[in-house]
Amino acid sequence: MATIGAIFRAVRRPLSGKVDVVVVGAGAAGIAAARLCLAKGLSLAVLEARDRVGGRAVTAEFGGHAIDLGAHWLHAGRLNPLVRLGFARGEPLRRAPRDGPVLVNGQFRGRAERRAHGEAFERADRAFAAASREADDRSLASAFPPLGMWGRPAEATFALVSGRPLEEVSVKDFPSDEFGDNYFLRGGYGTYLARLAAGLPVALGCPVRTIDWSGQGVSVETSAGRIEAGAAIVTAPLPVLAGGGLRFTPDLPHDLAAAIAGFLPGTYEHVVLNWPEGPFRAPDRLAKLVGQRDSHGMLTCIDRAPFHYLEMDHATVASLAGRDREALGRLAREILVGHFGRGVLRSLRVIAVTDWVGDPWSRTAWAVAPPGHAGARDVLTRPVGDRIWLAGEANVRAMWGTVGGAWDSGEEAATAVAERLRPAV
Ligand SMILES: Cc1cc2nc3c(=O)[nH]c(=O)nc-3n(C[C@H](O)[C@H](O)[C@H](O)COP(=O)(O)OP(=O)(O)OC[C@H]3O[C@@H](n4cnc5c(N)ncnc54)[C@H](O)[C@@H]3O)c2cc1C
Repeated sequence: MATIGAIFRAVRRPLSGKVDVVVVGAGAAGIAAARLCLAKGLSLAVLEARDRVGGRAVTAEFGGHAIDLGAHWLHAGRLNPLVRLGFARGEPLRRAPRDGPVLVNGQFRGRAERRAHGEAFERADRAFAAASREADDRSLASAFPPLGMWGRPAEATFALVSGRPLEEVSVKDFPSDEFGDNYFLRGGYGTYLARLAAGLPVALGCPVRTIDWSGQGVSVETSAGRIEAGAAIVTAPLPVLAGGGLRFTPDLPHDLAAAIAGFLPGTYEHVVLNWPEGPFRAPDRLAKLVGQRDSHGMLTCIDRAPFHYLEMDHATVASLAGRDREALGRLAREILVGHFGRGVLRSLRVIAVTDWVGDPWSRTAWAVAPPGHAGARDVLTRPVGDRIWLAGEANVRAMWGTVGGAWDSGEEAATAVAERLRPAV
């Protein structure tokens, strides 16, 4: 499996002694921050732990097809800065279909049932939206309305896209359908981000160990030496920070450390399938598979190819904790056999199973605010000593947990840093 992002090679540069800004991490937030810092005339070093750019957006190649192993949807088209930028650049964007097949125990359901299923989602969405406007920060589960036979599938889908069971998610944070105006991009989201990173001064394979902010600026210790800067924009995912994957001297202020520690790591894993004889034909449809016990989402015929994602939620992945990595792939096959019979196995191949929660540089798909913790997103945006800014998917209220949100957050941090370092610019 080749990582397509790697062909847009970032510039490997030795770390110089001093720059205006160090950006930690070359995912969406880091790339956005770096581009804006450069545009504002600041000198810059981007330090990336992995051997590639893109972070949780990375595209791999299978048999000549581009498949995203992380982010794939450009959510919230009206709000998403990467949709705007993509159109301006002439990127191959296409609108994602809004409806898809609904299968109950392997049977495709007709139009009336699909409509009833869609209406159940809209009812849940309205109930969540109303509860999110109340002063009380309670769980999504507590606001879930009665939805009859579609209640369980709707709950499973909301839990999947939330990254945790609904009891563990703040109602202030729900993934609203009003953001459902989605796009895809031919060739993959990861490849798009890699294109946006082309030419940036990124040092790859360069994990940052410590940021010392006891002096005037910051002193950043990496595996490849030390670099000094006036300010740092840190985009490492929250569980990496909470787990000591990057340390600060002195420690981060107590309220910020508590805000970071209070988020839950969300889970969302793709099982990538090559299934040329699968029953799905129309491209890019999100199919709902409702079985005896469980409900799963499946993106079908990605980019018109015989590739599909079966999406795995937190509960499913947690139930296999401690088992080998192939367990998730075996489970995907069992789920599909349960729906379509053993004959499906003839042409079904599990091509890849992601492990973002196990990855030391992500530890999560995205950060989830549990009930009572939604306000902590604002705490994350406060600068530390006027020289360290955190940025990333966790730092935004709208579009939290997404690439577009991370991009916005990176640009906000870069704007603040530029104002701080060059007040006259
Ligand atoms: C399977 C999956 C599917 C998803 N689907 C979608 C989707 O369809 N649409 C969507 O919008 N979002 C989706 N997301 C979420 C989206 O991928 C993230 O919200 C977004 O990519 C986060 O960007 P970021 O810049 O905040 O963090 P990251 O992309 O994680 O970037 C942080 C960077 O920091 C680096 N780093 C970490 N620690 C260090 C260190 N100590 N030193 C140096 N570098 C370090 C990491 O290697 C990484 O490159 C999905 C996520 C997953 C896992």
